[in-house]
Amino acid sequence: MENEKLVSEFLSLVKVEDPENIYAKEISNGKYFGLPLGSIIEAEKRLRANFERSIAYFSMEFGLASSFYNKFSSLRPVSLHNKNQEQEVFSNYRLADYFFTLKLDNIIDIPLYSGGLGVLAGDTLKTMADYKLPAVGVGMLWNTGYFRQKFWFKYGQMPERIHWDLYSYPGLIPLKNRIKISLNSEELHLRLWKYYVYSYGQDYALPLILLDANIEPNNEKNRHLTDQLYRSDDGWIKAMQRVILGMGGALALKELGYTIDIYHLNEGHAALAFIEKARKLKVNERDELKRHFVYTCHTPVEAGHDRFSPDELGRLLQKDDFALARELGLDTGGMINLTLFSMNIASRINAVSKSHQKVTHIQFPKYKEKIKYVTNGVHTHTWISDRFFALYEKFLSAFGDVRANPFILAEVKRLRDNPEFRGALWQGHQDNKSGLCDFLAKWGLSKDVFTICWARRVAAYKRPSLIFQDVERLIAISKKLGPIQIIFAGKAHPQDNLGFTYINEMLDKVDRLNQAYDGLKIIMLENYEIALAKMLTSSVDVWLNNPLPPFEASGTSGMKAILNGVIQLTTLDGWVCEAADKNIGKIFGYKSDEGKLGNEHDLHMSDDSSALYAAVEEMAQLYYKTNRQGKVDISSKWLDTMIDCIAAGAEFNTYRMLDEYKRLVWNMA
Ligand SMILES: *Cc1c(COP(=O)(O)O)cnc(C)c1O
Repeated sequence: MENEKLVSEFLSLVKVEDPENIYAKEISNGKYFGLPLGSIIEAEKRLRANFERSIAYFSMEFGLASSFYNKFSSLRPVSLHNKNQEQEVFSNYRLADYFFTLKLDNIIDIPLYSGGLGVLAGDTLKTMADYKLPAVGVGMLWNTGYFRQKFWFKYGQMPERIHWDLYSYPGLIPLKNRIKISLNSEELHLRLWKYYVYSYGQDYALPLILLDANIEPNNEKNRHLTDQLYRSDDGWIKAMQRVILGMGGALALKELGYTIDIYHLNEGHAALAFIEKARKLKVNERDELKRHFVYTCHTPVEAGHDRFSPDELGRLLQKDDFALARELGLDTGGMINLTLFSMNIASRINAVSKSHQKVTHIQFPKYKEKIKYVTNGVHTHTWISDRFFALYEKFLSAFGDVRANPFILAEVKRLRDNPEFRGALWQGHQDNKSGLCDFLAKWGLSKDVFTICWARRVAAYKRPSLIFQDVERLIAISKKLGPIQIIFAGKAHPQDNLGFTYINEMLDKVDRLNQAYDGLKIIMLENYEIALAKMLTSSVDVWLNNPLPPFEASGTSGMKAILNGVIQLTTLDGWVCEAADKNIGKIFGYKSDEGKLGNEHDLHMSDDSSALYAAVEEMAQLYYKTNRQGKVDISSKWLDTMIDCIAAGAEFNTYRMLDEYKRLVWNMA
């Protein structure tokens, strides 16, 4: 009885499309795809009430780790389209590549993201749910996701279209609600969907609204607007995607009856939300509206700023809307620039690390006063491996509950001289590493071999091929000190020709290292995604991060690694500048001049690869002193560094990040 009441209350708050036929079983018995329905009802009610300041968090992408974190269950069989496909491996052990593939038999992560920005947005929503904030996410329903990556030898990266089944993805529901955006020469119709983001205790669940153009009565062309994330080969599509997220998002919040106080723009993509809210307002009213907009800027590289020609936007937007876009966004190059627009409409702006704040101050001196910084973080519940949670619970329970309060990780330093802890820490790491070696068993990886990983988006400034500059040096190090395993993964944006070239260059180098396989194993994994990120960040010995300073705004993958005691090998950029005195590993390479931007095209490959090899040599030496073919010296400095990494995890997480957002950006005491 009680359970039936919950279902009817849910259905009165959330207008599910066709609840009887498709969703009756999934939403029944007080459960929503297996998780408590009451948690949703609480959040839905608070978002409609007037007594609290609610936050709408807009982002073009959301990476939710839905394949493993707070997983929904479904009574219907999982569509094959929603399962991971077999993947090939490209290594310098070609025989294994030829005969074997990798099987990832689980459900795919809901494909609404491309990389770090999306994962940050997902981690942010999860933490908002943990903090039980009245908040809602606003994003896009990408009907074909981003893309699936294949490697083709002698060619590089081949993007493949993703066909996923929206109607059977657990936790995702279509709504009856429709909205309509009025443009200059037509109307665009959008359907709304919802996905719920639960707190780690599953006692609270935030809605994520997803906008979808694939409906009648839109014409065929418009129905494809929400197909692919970051399609940039067509200016019209690119602009329309911004219109949908910004204007459509603002309309959707109104349609659903949410009373929003803070419009948070995660990147400038959603900036046009302001236009939707500002229409017909007087100038003083518009200034009042600005107090409700805040903006997080993530991009120090030029290509990251969204620009549109006035002609293009002029054709698209209604006359008054266009006039406002022009007034607030016209840059000195005569383009309408959404970064500039966002700076003009936001009452509070933040960069995503202290170093990025300096860069942003140089790029936008006029807004210097307004630009604060909140260093990014990662969601501990998503990124700490099960084994490490168990380890922390066993040893840190004396200091409190790590699950409820991740700041307790700082206390790990008190265990530095505890041999039992050091032994368990090493064992936990080895167990995670064995998992990776099992996954790649056919390639003959060993848990007692020094293992480095580089995995992230392939972009020029991140210098993916730095470690491959002089492979002879790597071979020499492995001959001198012991074997080395290198794992590589990352997608290049399909229209990024330079990124594409890097992948080709690396495939080529790997191929030519066939003979070196005994001492130097190089494994390139296709289709880098969140589930793979979780495995890699928790199981290798060294996490390599070599962006060209100062172009990495923050970087987050290293933060995932330190939570699992994985040591950093990194240049001094982004979040690392704030962790440089914390003994998180080895810092090497070019340092940017403070107060100068530098040149993003001068990649310092030669100097920095030499510095990298020297660092690899030093680390390999210590590694093999610590682990001699399975005989481990737990008093080694290597373990001290692992401990200091974990302690730093108390700071570089999304709980610290949200505390700072509350104080500096949302102005909530
Ligand atoms: C964390 C993550 C990233 C971001 O990595 P950076 O080192 O911050 O560039 C990219 N892709 C995936 C799948 C991730 O999980």
